[in-house]
Amino acid sequence: MSETMFRKPSTPRAFDFFDGLCARKRAKEHLQFQSTILENVSESVIATDLQGHVIYWNQGATALFGYSAQEMLGNTLAILYPETEGHQLQPDLGQIGEGTDYSGEWKGQRKDGTVVWIDAKTTVLRNTKGQAIGFIGVAKDITERKQAEQASLLLASIVESSDDAIIGKTREGIITSWNRGAERMYGYSAAEAVGQPITLLFPPDRHDEFASIMERITRGEQIDHFETTRVSKNGTILLVSVTVSPIHDSEGQIIGASAIARDIRGQKRLEAEVREAKQQLEVIFKNIADGITVQDKRGTVIYVNDAGAKLSGFASAQDMLAFDVKTLRTHILERFALMDEFGQPLSFTDLPAMKVLQGQSYAETLVHYRDTHTGRSWWSVLKASPIVDEHGQVQLVVNIFSDVTSRMELEQRKDEFMSMASHELKTPLTSLQGYTQLLKMRLGKQGVPELVEWLTKMEKQITRLTHLITDLLDVSKIQAGQLAYVKEPIDIDALLHDIADTMQHISATHTITIHGAAQTSIVGDSDRLGQVFTNLLSNAVKYSPQATNVDISIVATLDTVTVSIRDYGIGIPPEQQQKIFERFYRVSDVHDKTFPGLGMGLYICSEIVKRHGGRLWVESAKGEGSTFFVALPITG
Ligand code: ADP
Repeated sequence: MSETMFRKPSTPRAFDFFDGLCARKRAKEHLQFQSTILENVSESVIATDLQGHVIYWNQGATALFGYSAQEMLGNTLAILYPETEGHQLQPDLGQIGEGTDYSGEWKGQRKDGTVVWIDAKTTVLRNTKGQAIGFIGVAKDITERKQAEQASLLLASIVESSDDAIIGKTREGIITSWNRGAERMYGYSAAEAVGQPITLLFPPDRHDEFASIMERITRGEQIDHFETTRVSKNGTILLVSVTVSPIHDSEGQIIGASAIARDIRGQKRLEAEVREAKQQLEVIFKNIADGITVQDKRGTVIYVNDAGAKLSGFASAQDMLAFDVKTLRTHILERFALMDEFGQPLSFTDLPAMKVLQGQSYAETLVHYRDTHTGRSWWSVLKASPIVDEHGQVQLVVNIFSDVTSRMELEQRKDEFMSMASHELKTPLTSLQGYTQLLKMRLGKQGVPELVEWLTKMEKQITRLTHLITDLLDVSKIQAGQLAYVKEPIDIDALLHDIADTMQHISATHTITIHGAAQTSIVGDSDRLGQVFTNLLSNAVKYSPQATNVDISIVATLDTVTVSIRDYGIGIPPEQQQKIFERFYRVSDVHDKTFPGLGMGLYICSEIVKRHGGRLWVESAKGEGSTFFVALPITG
């Protein structure tokens, strides 16, 4: 509707609108004179009809809003309202039409979408008869002032909400501003403090500080984080860190100073606590027997206690810290022979610290050191843990060295004793076995069956004892690396059938069945492999007292023969399945019936299989039986 009321002129001539209104030439000239002025004033001048459609738009308006007169004439003023607020135009015009001249600040939107703040005055435009025919508004851009005001409001609210005390003062030291932080810290309200000298806050012994601060400020200097004391309204002495900066006027003259003070009692207390904790830790580190070293991410040792230095082969912590990472490494490798528990040489990269630096979350190794200069040797357990930053990157590595020399020596003595004892026991047992057999023969001939039966029982016990002692002897030999093996071709199918037959003989409760065949021979030690299968079979029978079957299966591929021995017995829980191959390890479960044994069998088996280049493992679930697998390379 409004579109039809106003015609867009082809060229915007100012105040065409008035042409029809004023008949007299003089008046027209006067108007032209007026419109020239209006075109050239820097303010924006806009006239609209009663609906807010533009009927006049000067250069100033173009400069302010970015729309040309051509674009705006006949168009609605609503497009100058910020997004979604265009509907406000009609109510606004309504109010002005009712006689409320609008004069004030208004936020509009330029053609390019940016916000413009204007200071506007809008009044009703009347014809000669005094009838309202539209509106005229004069406006100027106040965006810059508005932004400055907002910035200073923001600044003021930051100052107000700061926890630090922020105080303004004149060159003479009279307080001119006092924020909430200052109220909280010193206890005076702004009303009490403003107008007072700043020395109000200075304890008597600090009064001369004021002159020296002001002298520096007058020179234009800033005083940064100056630690001093101040006194609050209730007399409490505060430990503060103060930063004082000069305040300049628009001509650059120093007219006063601003002081920012922070209460550092808490921080100081924390520092003291940290210092104390550090001292305590140092005393502990100095006195504990374990060695401690800390390395940075490049491996450089940045901390070591005396025990750590000694266990790494140095006289003192200072001696060790004198080396950088490269020379330390060469020094250690030249001076010390590092070995694992089996006497195999260890390289630097095998050490736990190196593994942790490579990303492992924890590493532990038993190291046997031998000082090549003095011949002294010792054992250490090295444990390394990383300290990571917030991105999970290793920053430091903490190493703990525990001297386990006496434990290892005791272990060695135990091994030696075991080896000697099993040797010593074996000889009398062999002759005991011989004489029992002889006696049994004689008494059999003499026809004393009752005694022969007793002797058979005795023989059985002697065989059990012999097995135990043979196992003990084997364990000692493995420990000493002295278990001997021969290499010969073995018909694995025949070997397994032999062993199964023998076992079947002595086990009346279970049926042992062999499935499949390798149909090939392998290279190895027949007696030792026989010992492995016998052991696995007797375990299968022993640990399945309720079952009646044990199944052996033989599968061969081109290069491997895999024998599995399956029982339907008590099974092994997952967490124990690795450990059962360790020396003397036995599964203990209070709910289970206990089985006799010493935990040597599987250890010996796994060592024998390992020496044949093979693998021994178990698959099992508690209560569902176990399957032990022996995979052996055909070529040995
Ligand atoms: P042990 O003389 O105790 O039988 P082993 O070294 O042969 O010693 O076995 C170690 C442990 O592994 C046993 O104590 C037993 O708990 C478990 N174990 C071995 N074989 C089986 C099996 N077939 N079923 C269930 N548990 C077994």
